[in-house]
Amino acid sequence: MIPSPPPAPSGEGGAPDVVPPLTNAREAPTDARPADPADPARRRNPLGGHVPVAGGLARTGLAYARRMGAETVQVFVANPRGWATPTGDPAQDEEFRAGCAAEGLSVFVHAPYLINPASHDATTGERSVVSLRHSLRRAADIGAPGVVVHTGSATGGRDRETGLAAVRERLLPLLEEEPGGPDGPMLLLEPTAGQGASVCSLVEDLGPYLAALDHHPRVGVCLDTCHVFAAGHDLDRPGGAGRLLTALEEAVGPGRLRLIHANDSAAPRGSRRDRHARIGRGHIGDTAFAELLAHPATEGVPLVIETPGGPEGHAGDVARLREMRAGRTPPPVPREEHPPRRAGGRGTGSRPTGGGRG
Ligand SMILES: [Zn+2]
Repeated sequence: MIPSPPPAPSGEGGAPDVVPPLTNAREAPTDARPADPADPARRRNPLGGHVPVAGGLARTGLAYARRMGAETVQVFVANPRGWATPTGDPAQDEEFRAGCAAEGLSVFVHAPYLINPASHDATTGERSVVSLRHSLRRAADIGAPGVVVHTGSATGGRDRETGLAAVRERLLPLLEEEPGGPDGPMLLLEPTAGQGASVCSLVEDLGPYLAALDHHPRVGVCLDTCHVFAAGHDLDRPGGAGRLLTALEEAVGPGRLRLIHANDSAAPRGSRRDRHARIGRGHIGDTAFAELLAHPATEGVPLVIETPGGPEGHAGDVARLREMRAGRTPPPVPREEHPPRRAGGRGTGSRPTGGGRG
């Protein structure tokens, strides 16, 4: 056994937050360089993270992606906590597309948090459709193949069936409309941590959700490891990731999984609390991520981190996943029970991290 290294300083204050040095012979995974785009391991599972874009998709987002050593990125195209539908900056769009193409980066869009297709409220429902249509169109503008949206909650004391009926009424016409064109982005459903009247948190819940959408071909799944763990899936036990992926395939069939949000959890299994932690520092631990990266069901599926920790922490988390992807065991890191909650939270540059809700 290797003794646990002392706790690393928090990255929130700008202090370096790299994986602490090892006491054994293995080298610490501090290499933030992305793998060569032709590398088979990278083609199987590109690794990256959510990047801030306040200041410009290319100017801020691409620069951040490079610093993180990202092979794939996720961005907001609107304020995640608002209903605004801003037009993009065509020059930044073009520069971003060109930069991503040159570096072989795949791109995903995360839709705003306020969207709730299962809402009982007509205004929220309408705004949700408008906002989602905007995200899908903007995703097409920047060459993103998928838009992540939270599956939503049956508000107003309504039951799940009523919530799913609302989902069908709102999302099916939008999918048929094909925002972004016939080759436009897919809608990637992200189950939530199970808080409140969530209509979908366990992967089994995706079955009725997909059925409500007539198993539309433009619908895929984004699994957030923190969310499904908080909802009760036992990713902290050996084989847990495999059982999760088997249950997913039983619920929705093969080929629907298009993206993984790789986040550890600062809250325990089944807590229904969405508290992201850095990779290996939460209640899930490294094993589940290594299992995910080796499972046949994740062939071709990118992993995006939405963890706390700032730029150095993000680079460290991507490097840690890259170690596991290479079949190596990264050095142990201390558990962080209570990562600092993110202050602020306004603007298109904020991350879906820290306090959770990614
Ligand atoms: Zn997420």
